[in-house]
Amino acid sequence: MPFTSFLPIPPTSHFPIQNLPYCIFSIPDVSPRVGVRIGDYLLDLAFLEQYALFGPLLQGENVFARPSLNAFMAMGKPAWREARAVITDLLRADNPFLRDNPTLREWALIPVESATLHLPVEIGDYTDFYASRQHATNVGIMFRGKENALMPNWLHLPVGYHGRASSVVLSGQDVRRPQGQTLPAGGSAPVFGPSKRLDFELEMGFLIGPGNALGEPIPVEQAEDHIFGMVLVNDWSARDIQAWEYQPLGPFLAKNFATSISPWVVPMDALEPFRLPGPVQDPEPLPYLRPSSPGAFDIHLEVHLQTAQMSAPDVICRSNFKHLYWDIRQMLAHHTITGCNLRPGDLLASGTISGPTEDSYGSMLELAWRGERPLQLNSGETRSFLQDGDRVTMTGWCQGEDYRIGFGEVTACILPTKMEAQP
Ligand code: MN
Repeated sequence: MPFTSFLPIPPTSHFPIQNLPYCIFSIPDVSPRVGVRIGDYLLDLAFLEQYALFGPLLQGENVFARPSLNAFMAMGKPAWREARAVITDLLRADNPFLRDNPTLREWALIPVESATLHLPVEIGDYTDFYASRQHATNVGIMFRGKENALMPNWLHLPVGYHGRASSVVLSGQDVRRPQGQTLPAGGSAPVFGPSKRLDFELEMGFLIGPGNALGEPIPVEQAEDHIFGMVLVNDWSARDIQAWEYQPLGPFLAKNFATSISPWVVPMDALEPFRLPGPVQDPEPLPYLRPSSPGAFDIHLEVHLQTAQMSAPDVICRSNFKHLYWDIRQMLAHHTITGCNLRPGDLLASGTISGPTEDSYGSMLELAWRGERPLQLNSGETRSFLQDGDRVTMTGWCQGEDYRIGFGEVTACILPTKMEAQP
């Protein structure tokens, strides 16, 4: 490891000095503010700002004593790099400034278990892509058959849809089973009731820093100047509602009831050592979707499922962010090519990240193949879709030589439908 923190951090921790993800936290009598996770502590950036410890770009900007990261994200990469350099320096093992000042440490470093975490970003708009070829192929086979699995546009553009920002919730907030219209198998008229095919989608999201003016697309080569960092995303989906409603305009109520994100926003600079080339794109995309450098990242991903009867979760999926066909720069360039404006805090998600093997599929729909081969759990139970009381936890990390850049987790439990709301 090139350098370490003065705080003891085991090699399996998600939060060594090489990571430094941002969050929004509060403690009793202290309003929500920006923090950085290091080991089992949060570094209070509002406190550091008050003591004028940042450099010329951040000096006097007052971006950390705020209940969201948006103002800091809007400042752009030079300010992000200044903050990261100052924070790294303060936490280094060879810097006595914070290390040898117990009073300062007590004020600046808050044990994470004593803090309340909040949604890190005020999300104005949420867009969800469909960038995994394996996922699109699997779903295509199930809904349309093997010959027509990939739609004719799929290899030419990153398919996506505009999602719902108001229902993006923080990890830990439980999710209520939605109710709605579904078409029973073989039936000709819909019935109303709680979804019977509730599913998760293993995704990752990237958050927009500086936006673009309406009418001015962001070129693919400049896309990364607009991306602040990444989070884990669980894009909850009601497959039976989706199957009935989705033609011709795509998912609507099947995906608008909840989307969960992890609390830690991992900066793109922390992911840089894990950059690698993505899958070969054939046919070659049009010039506006043709970046000149690698744009995939080696991020291990897992989904854990724990039913109400289980004392510990089963790992039901092992995937990797590097499997995505389209990279995040291509998604961003495509999103804005019409002149559509992105704004600081917008969330763009990858779509379900399925790998090439059956144990790497990123949804229940695929893992249990539309209910045809239910998952066998260690408890002896089986699952085709999620039941009330089931807990889904997703985690992800980049594996360095003796450290990890982790994303923590995004977790939620399924609550029963609120029956009194039923008409
Ligand atoms: Mn999705």
